[in-house]
Amino acid sequence: MTALLQLERFTVRYGRLTAVNDVSLEAKAGEVTAVIGPNGAGKTSLVNAVMGLVPFGGRLLFPQWPEASRSIEARVRARISLVPETRDLFGPMTVLDNLRLGAFAVRVEPRFDMRARIADIFRLFPRLAERRDQLANTLSGGERQMLALGRALMLRPRFLMLDEPSLGLAPLIVAEMFRIIAQLKNEGVSILLIEQNARAALQLSDRAYVLEGGAVQLEGRAADIAADRRVIEAYLGMS
Ligand code: ATP
Repeated sequence: MTALLQLERFTVRYGRLTAVNDVSLEAKAGEVTAVIGPNGAGKTSLVNAVMGLVPFGGRLLFPQWPEASRSIEARVRARISLVPETRDLFGPMTVLDNLRLGAFAVRVEPRFDMRARIADIFRLFPRLAERRDQLANTLSGGERQMLALGRALMLRPRFLMLDEPSLGLAPLIVAEMFRIIAQLKNEGVSILLIEQNARAALQLSDRAYVLEGGAVQLEGRAADIAADRRVIEAYLGMS
């Protein structure tokens, strides 16, 4: 499988604090790659730096789209998307307008059909269809997360990075969110999934990295990581 993202000795520093330390990582086409780890492990810093929101050291390559590593805009044009942990919705705007804004980078493509794309998103998230005219800042946490993901999907991403999509959601909505991520994977979207919910993340991932204190502690096939005694003790409980 071709690599879509390659990190080599990737490092993120905030002043004297090293949040991501010498990480090497690869995400392959058609796969879900999970990065799991505790609070403060550096997961958000990693993904924000990959998107170009935070400066980094080391090497970042998008082998399929060499120009994409130049700027955030170039990544968006290559249809690389990040759904940030902060969700970053346009609060005073409606659900529909938030979705329309998600398409700004592709709207200029002659074949782009805004109505059809929005209809696709509403099929995936019927809840958003019901609330199409509601302002984003009045949505529930789960609905907000659905809108943030729906907005990223307007771009028809070729590589989608999700920063803790299950964070703060009720168990039923968490299950729904993971069902949707699995569906996206089946549709062929390549995904980098940042999660604290290790069990659910490992179930739908192909490969996984365990990040602790900014460094990769363990990496491999998700099934092997889920069966690793250290991972079971630290992240999956004894069951
Ligand atoms: P969580 O799961 O709690 O979101 P995380 O694994 O995503 O954690 P990061 O948010 O990347 O971890 O944080 C890694 C470290 O970097 C933490 O010690 C955090 O306090 C620090 N950090 C993050 N952002 C900044 C910043 N803008 N300035 C200074 N330190 C930061």
